[in-house]
Amino acid sequence: MHVSLVIGHAGKPDRPSDRGAAYTHPSGVRLSEVSLVRRYADSIDVALLAAGHRCVTYEDGTYDERARRAKISGASCLLALHANAGLAGRSGQRGELFYWPGSAKGQALAEALSEALGRVVPYTVRVIPAEVGPYLSASRVAAVRSTIDGAVSPSVCVEPFFLDGEGADELVSDDYLTAIGKALAAGVIAWRG
Ligand SMILES: [Zn+2]
Repeated sequence: MHVSLVIGHAGKPDRPSDRGAAYTHPSGVRLSEVSLVRRYADSIDVALLAAGHRCVTYEDGTYDERARRAKISGASCLLALHANAGLAGRSGQRGELFYWPGSAKGQALAEALSEALGRVVPYTVRVIPAEVGPYLSASRVAAVRSTIDGAVSPSVCVEPFFLDGEGADELVSDDYLTAIGKALAAGVIAWRG
């Protein structure tokens, strides 16, 4: 199997300084979405390779360009990799997986990823269609859709944790990010069957 990974925010031609979500940890460490995503993306890559699969990572260009390149490459699926912020201690940690509304394949992939992630994280990883509803505003829907629009079918926007959610201390650890990457690889493999 050939899997496309998109590193969220990195290498945007129109916004080269975009590092995605950010949070200053109480220890003083500044967490940025791009650097955490790169670390768990590397773990996905290693785990897929070890299982005999191929992984291509897209780190530059507009999201549209990356979607087109991935589609042409003949990948089995695409994961748009992100991490979120915005809980600011108001509620517990959580994860979110977004698929294109109406895509049964996207939903199935997201559910396999959720199940695999659920084995390594102590919180709920929800599977959510990228459409306006009680859970998603129109602006958030547009942002989520831009990460998977026109890409390989199926594609999932992956937000496995919040930088400022409960347990964020652990998110800076290599062990945690490696476990998340391995779980995502296992989820893709389980989906493929
Ligand atoms: Zn993001």
